[in-house]
Amino acid sequence: MRRLGIMGGTFDPIHHGHLVAASEVAHVFALDEVVFVPTGRSSHKEGRVAAAEDRYLMAVIATASNPRFSVSRIDIDRPGPTYTVDTLRDMRELHGPGTELFFITGADALAKMLTWHDTDELFELAHFIGCTRPGHRLTDPGLPNGRVSLMEVPALSISSTECRDRVHAGEPIWYLVPDGIVQYINKRVLYRDRAA
Ligand code: ATP
Ligand code: MG
Repeated sequence: MRRLGIMGGTFDPIHHGHLVAASEVAHVFALDEVVFVPTGRSSHKEGRVAAAEDRYLMAVIATASNPRFSVSRIDIDRPGPTYTVDTLRDMRELHGPGTELFFITGADALAKMLTWHDTDELFELAHFIGCTRPGHRLTDPGLPNGRVSLMEVPALSISSTECRDRVHAGEPIWYLVPDGIVQYINKRVLYRDRAA
């Protein structure tokens, strides 16, 4: 069985927290590959989000040097808001029965997932891995046994919100994100004109 990690996210922008989490989960769960899947329109994020194409390209730039990382367009090419169940159904169809799916998500996002519909189907489609990061705790672990794991990733208290806020305020984001992402954000003049 091939073991495929799926890291869904807005990636607005992708940062080293995402990359460290994916790398650590890939190591601990012996994953063959991790696919980063930028959302189309997010179903639960209000407010403005950078163009899907920019978020997709930043994910490509940030993962290009890692042979076990790749980026998928399935969510940004599907019309309408992104729901994780659609991502997983498409991935299942794309990769077939020889591939085991591991959906990687922050513990905060995992906790929110409990409030979504279709959780039974979600847990049939993939094993879920919730990464804890500073400031986030799963308070209600009412998750199905055996289909969900929690793991700690090296503490990196970086968020996309903080990166956007810093760009907006004219503060540096060097070393919070890969160098190519700093350069891409400058080149495309992203996040400068709005509070995150
Ligand atoms: P925002 O601040 O806009 O919410 P974010 O930094 O949380 O952005 P997302 O694109 O929402 O980034 O995150 C994608 C996934 O990565 C989510 O499951 C999220 O919980 C997880 N994640 C985000 N930052 C980290 C981090 N520093 N360490 C581990 N996981 C993270
Ligand atoms: Mg988030």
